[in-house]
Amino acid sequence: MWFRRDLRVADHPALSAAATRGEVVCLWVIDPQILGRRHHQAPERLRFLRAGLAALDGELRRLGAPLVIRTGRPEDVVPHVAVEAGASRVHLTHEVSPLGLARDARVAGALSAAGITLESFGGDLLAEPEDLAGSSGKGYLVFTPFSRAWGAIDIPRLITAPALTGPTLPSESLDALGSGEPRIPAGPAAARAAVVAFIASGRADQYGDARNALADDGTSRLSAYLRFGMTSPAQIGRALGLPGEISAGRYAFWRQICWRDFYHHHLKRHPEVSRMALRPAFRRIQWDNDLADLGAWERGETGFPIVDAGMRQLAAEGWMHNRARMITASFLVKDLLIDWRRGESVFMRKLLDGDPANNNGGWQWTAGTGTDAAPYFRVFNPTLQAQKFDAAGEYVRRWVPELRDVPGNRIHEPWRLTTEEQRAAACRLDVDYPLPRVDHARRRREVLERYRATGAAAGDP
Ligand code: FAD
Repeated sequence: MWFRRDLRVADHPALSAAATRGEVVCLWVIDPQILGRRHHQAPERLRFLRAGLAALDGELRRLGAPLVIRTGRPEDVVPHVAVEAGASRVHLTHEVSPLGLARDARVAGALSAAGITLESFGGDLLAEPEDLAGSSGKGYLVFTPFSRAWGAIDIPRLITAPALTGPTLPSESLDALGSGEPRIPAGPAAARAAVVAFIASGRADQYGDARNALADDGTSRLSAYLRFGMTSPAQIGRALGLPGEISAGRYAFWRQICWRDFYHHHLKRHPEVSRMALRPAFRRIQWDNDLADLGAWERGETGFPIVDAGMRQLAAEGWMHNRARMITASFLVKDLLIDWRRGESVFMRKLLDGDPANNNGGWQWTAGTGTDAAPYFRVFNPTLQAQKFDAAGEYVRRWVPELRDVPGNRIHEPWRLTTEEQRAAACRLDVDYPLPRVDHARRRREVLERYRATGAAAGDP
């Protein structure tokens, strides 16, 4: 059993299939090629992964077989370990990313040359792309019809963790992934506890109302667990009470799991989106890509408090609220005129939940270059977003302490403070907190001109 993004033992079709067939060796491959990629130079996420693997090892040992760690190219390591173990078959869970699919194809070829079968299973998504092909047979480009078809899918019965037996093979250390404690507890047991706590606390029932309030902990924070398969969509669906009647809040939350499946299907069907805009005209946008602007954005020093709060939350927690992700991403693309792929890369390196499918989907949605049904000329106004989703300024006060004493929602427009008010709030503009880096209204006109210049009509496929 070759583990990748499926670090759990229950509701694991591949592991269960392997266990029913005989002795099992559980393998994790440290792939230096992946670790060397810029997107994956993400110390916080690697720490979380490392702790998750240690926890998985503990659970596997209790079931009867430890996790074997090996380093090298998977197309060398997997066949080598299979031969060492005398295995006739290698089990794994399906991938969707272009990098992962290319790697799996190389491994399949190497195994086949050694006379070993590779078998791939579902379980990471509620539905596989092949199950939801739509009337065109090519899948869906728009979320709403996808969600209708997805909602009709049966939620699989949960599979219990299997008992395991198998040979003991030498194993290496996980040190290449870094050291130290992750920001949140990792592993399948921690994921189970987080799912239970989210539902038992009533937050799942309140989700529909609370999910957009930036200062509240209204969302589940399950993303890093889902990212590494420490829990599965089916486990979450069953915990929510599906199939069956559930509250509107729980249903709104379940719809987010649908977005995850949507973007994963999308990446599998359109692998080119990992490198370029889905909509061809938007591959021609002229970006400014000013590095000083990019740096100020990344550090949370743009002079737009809501943007700076989001970026500082990301730096401090390795997580950012979804509303803040939309606001900060929109600001980078549409106010700073920086290529969305630069922002995608910053997020990938900082997010605990950094995920090729969801991150790319979120960035292309925000840039208006991907699957979003809304036209590209929707440009978020950061100040209006702040006034709506952080009305009392609590979120900004938490993450931008220089502005802590600015009263009420004036915190969202510090550039309007008089000298007297700045003195009262102990915050001098351009000294303690930056002036706005750009004029939003002017940049809005400019970016729309750049999008128009590509020749794309709003709503073009
Ligand atoms: P909840 O609101 O509790 O949602 C539950 C789960 O549903 C999430 O854990 C996640 O798995 C899934 N989900 C929720 N919203 C989305 C969405 N819009 N798209 C896809 N799946 C979703 N999510 C990631 O998991 N990894 C990323 O790298 C990532 N990058 C993003 C980049 C941008 C620019 C944007 C706008 C969104 C991004 N998202 C990403 C989606 C979303 O912001 C996070 O999944 C969510 O904030 C995670 O917090 P949560 O677990 O509390 O979410």
